[in-house]
Amino acid sequence: MTMQDSTQDSTVDQTSQQTFDSLSPINGDVVGTHPVHSAEDVSAAVLRAHEEAAWWSALSFDERAEQLLTWKGVITRRMAQLAEVMHQETGKPHGDALLEATLAIDHLDWAAKNADKVLKRRKVPSGLLMANQAATVEYKPLGVVGVIGPWNYPVFTPMGSIAYALAAGNAVVFKPSEYTPGVGEWLARTFHEAVGRPVLSVVTGLGETGAALCHAGADKIAFTGSTATGKRVMAACAEHLTPVVIEAGGKDAVIIDHDADIEAAADAVLWGACANAGQTCTGVERVYVHEKVYDAFVAEIVKQAETLRADDSADSPLGPITMPKQLDVIRSHIDDALARGGRALVGGAGAVGDRFVQPTILVDVPEDSLAVCEETFGPTVTIARVGTVEEAVRRTNATAYGLGSTVFSKARGMEIAERIRSGMTAVNGVITFAGVPSLPFGGVGDSGFGRIHGPDGLKEFTYAKSIARQRFKPVMPLTSFKRTAKHEQQLVQLMTMLHGRGTTLPKLGKPVKGRGKKA
Ligand code: NDP
Repeated sequence: MTMQDSTQDSTVDQTSQQTFDSLSPINGDVVGTHPVHSAEDVSAAVLRAHEEAAWWSALSFDERAEQLLTWKGVITRRMAQLAEVMHQETGKPHGDALLEATLAIDHLDWAAKNADKVLKRRKVPSGLLMANQAATVEYKPLGVVGVIGPWNYPVFTPMGSIAYALAAGNAVVFKPSEYTPGVGEWLARTFHEAVGRPVLSVVTGLGETGAALCHAGADKIAFTGSTATGKRVMAACAEHLTPVVIEAGGKDAVIIDHDADIEAAADAVLWGACANAGQTCTGVERVYVHEKVYDAFVAEIVKQAETLRADDSADSPLGPITMPKQLDVIRSHIDDALARGGRALVGGAGAVGDRFVQPTILVDVPEDSLAVCEETFGPTVTIARVGTVEEAVRRTNATAYGLGSTVFSKARGMEIAERIRSGMTAVNGVITFAGVPSLPFGGVGDSGFGRIHGPDGLKEFTYAKSIARQRFKPVMPLTSFKRTAKHEQQLVQLMTMLHGRGTTLPKLGKPVKGRGKKA
């Protein structure tokens, strides 16, 4: 089966005839031909999206939720078709594509059903000084959100922005990666079918089309991709003071404490490192293992990894490397590690083929080597022995990135998790945070900023609107030229009474039970 042509009414008009092909990374076959949208096309798409935003934002939360849940139904019923498009364009196994679609559907459901609760107008305390005011806050849509997506999770990742931006009342113009344009078109086409209007539209093309989106008049850009391109996106958006959310790469580490379930930890590390052929922003790239269990862990993961292979057979658990130029990056990281005293217990020098990379487990790799410091984005992992958990935390945090992380420990999971500088941590599981719709997803440092998913992900695509409404005349006319010296004296007395001691804490929320004690 080849993918459909992109001449659907959900795609944007094109002024030139220029096209590009999307190719199967498994065998190089052309699986689709798509328009290269020019800067003019992109601007026209954003202009049109502003009209759609006016209609969409005028709907009630319930009305929008109904439309989004209709779309969810269409996606769910055609999940196998979507997975096939994903498989063709990225090469990922069909089962992995299904899992990815499942997670995206769950997020769409959550965003649609929770936007009302998170964003609707609510009362907030107005304080003693302003007791005569009724204070409310609500979160209003920004207008048009431009989403620039990656190829590695071409449904799950952009949907983290698309679903939440739409649920918050925005229209979306989506620029999928040049490696996965068919997936982007599929999403826009099914949305149009479900809702009947192109509130979600798609522009396709190469990097220039994405760059054009930054200059096209969107009210926010949500970007996922490399840190380097993220910086370019931010610089372009700065020209228009367009806000951005940046989901960039990571160098995620796993800490394995001496009391961890070793078999489960090995299974999780292997999957976290090699699933999706290692092309996961929150994939496992480094492991720090307590010396008491290091040998047992290494023996277990080697045993498990030896059964894993990447090839072009239909039931291969690992697909190809989607972006051909990534093969050189992966090869250079393995070569550098081996040249600097590292040893490959599985895979190694010959692991990188023309399209596929075999799982590679590296030990004794210096901490300043490429494989430990830079994002490899392949099915490789480095494992290091540590004397204490404290050393593991220090080495985990010795990176400019800070996206995800993992801890395996029976007694100290939460305590260790809290000490890791990363946006998300999984305890006794791996990448589990991504599947919990109510948890915000995002990083710190070179991993970017802003959040998708959860309440924060909804608010990311809104602005806060505060209203203070006077209920009765103030006791003291503080914001009036009728204010007198006597009023000022009364104010000082009141402030001294309220804040002079400076020590009274307001009642805070209940701390989480057992915080910092047990996993
Ligand atoms: P990029 O950061 O180059 O691309 C990500 C997205 O940005 C794509 O849609 C791309 O379009 C678009 N884009 C490219 N140039 C511009 C620009 N100047 N302005 C606006 N948008 C632009 O990532 P790559 O796909 O080249 O991958 C490179 C590396 O990035 C990988 O090796 C990996 O380390 C990391 N990466 C991390 C991801 C993550 O999830 N954190 C996801 C993908 C990559 P187009 O594809 O058409 O060029």
